[in-house]
Amino acid sequence: MTFSETILQWYSLNGRDLPWRRTRDPYAVWLSEIILQQTRVAQGRAYWERFMERFPTVEQLAAATEDEVLRLWQGLGYYSRARNLHAAAKQIVSMGGFPETLEGIRSLKGVGDYTAAAIGSIAFGLPAAVVDGNVYRVLARFFGIATPVGTTAAKKEFTALAQRLLPEDSPAAFNQGMMDFGATCCTPVNPCCMTCPLQPDCQAFATGRTDLLPVKQTLSKPVERHLTYVLVRVNGEIAIHRRGPGDIWQGLWEPWLTNEVPDGARLVTSGLKHQLTHRTLFADYWIWEPSALPSLPEGYIWIQEAELDRYAKPRLIELILEYLSIPGL
Ligand code: SF4
Repeated sequence: MTFSETILQWYSLNGRDLPWRRTRDPYAVWLSEIILQQTRVAQGRAYWERFMERFPTVEQLAAATEDEVLRLWQGLGYYSRARNLHAAAKQIVSMGGFPETLEGIRSLKGVGDYTAAAIGSIAFGLPAAVVDGNVYRVLARFFGIATPVGTTAAKKEFTALAQRLLPEDSPAAFNQGMMDFGATCCTPVNPCCMTCPLQPDCQAFATGRTDLLPVKQTLSKPVERHLTYVLVRVNGEIAIHRRGPGDIWQGLWEPWLTNEVPDGARLVTSGLKHQLTHRTLFADYWIWEPSALPSLPEGYIWIQEAELDRYAKPRLIELILEYLSIPGL
């Protein structure tokens, strides 16, 4: 049996039964792919179901406010995905329907090569191979390829190989098979070599290099950043503002972020650590309860504490509010 036949057979026996796999509705498929870009299936599934229930069609998603979309997305992280999702929904509506070519799908905001290939193959049967971390790993091990992943050379090499292996008559099953196989059998640590149907021809297994492949590029150390928040509270109201573009958490709400803590504020917690992909945040939290409304920089609004629930917040802010036992979560 060839590599591709083995993957197809493995998938027909072991493929995960997921709700978005029971449909070919491109909207439902696209939504699942965006959610799963940086989220595990176990967590993403509930979000996909919530989005499908709240916005069953792309028109309904396009007609929502950005706040509504961000609020529903809350907790998933990488909020640019939610903003792109919303923008792309509007794009799709203005196109008169979901694009059916790879190029058209690739032109949607937030859709890169991988996502376009996944949507195209699953929803429209287009012969486009997906290449993600799972695919890199399976191919690097099976074919014994030591090109460091994350490089342009690797992208070219692995994409060409995956494309060559893709059976034209069943691209969706092959792509999903590769992803599932990489996620559940040929895993980063402790792959299932003993029961693996690819084992007889696997280069990594034959040469004892499963731990060494794929070769990773050394990543630079995450950057550290220190944030000081002051929760300004006057007569049950608190001040928040919406973060602007050009930095993390665009469009999300947070308490007063400042370098100068006012006299009379009290420290609640110091150095609370929060990890993002490329930086480590350390946050200090203060509470300040002045007797009269202070003047804050432009852009801050006053809301009742209980209304906080209506505002989409970064996970870090949620953690603080939980820590402080602020209602409205
Ligand atoms: S034998 Fe092991 S390393 Fe090779 S493809 Fe199978 S699970 Fe992956």
